[in-house]
Amino acid sequence: MSYDERRGGGGGGGYRGGGGGGRGPSGPRESHEAVCSKCGKQTTVPFKPTEGRPVYCRDCFSSMPRDR
Ligand SMILES: [Zn+2]
Repeated sequence: MSYDERRGGGGGGGYRGGGGGGRGPSGPRESHEAVCSKCGKQTTVPFKPTEGRPVYCRDCFSSMPRDR
């Protein structure tokens, strides 16, 4: 079993690794600052937070009880 440890589960994966800190022309992914609606911690989400919709930080999101 030679599973790549760096391949942490979390969807996506396969980002450009291997040195050369060059940013892509369009950026790998967006980062929007938001405040977690659960713990109130400031976090960044890969999507634009919508007003009225709760935003959770990674921590809360992963430990959130899946509502079906
Ligand atoms: Zn949180």
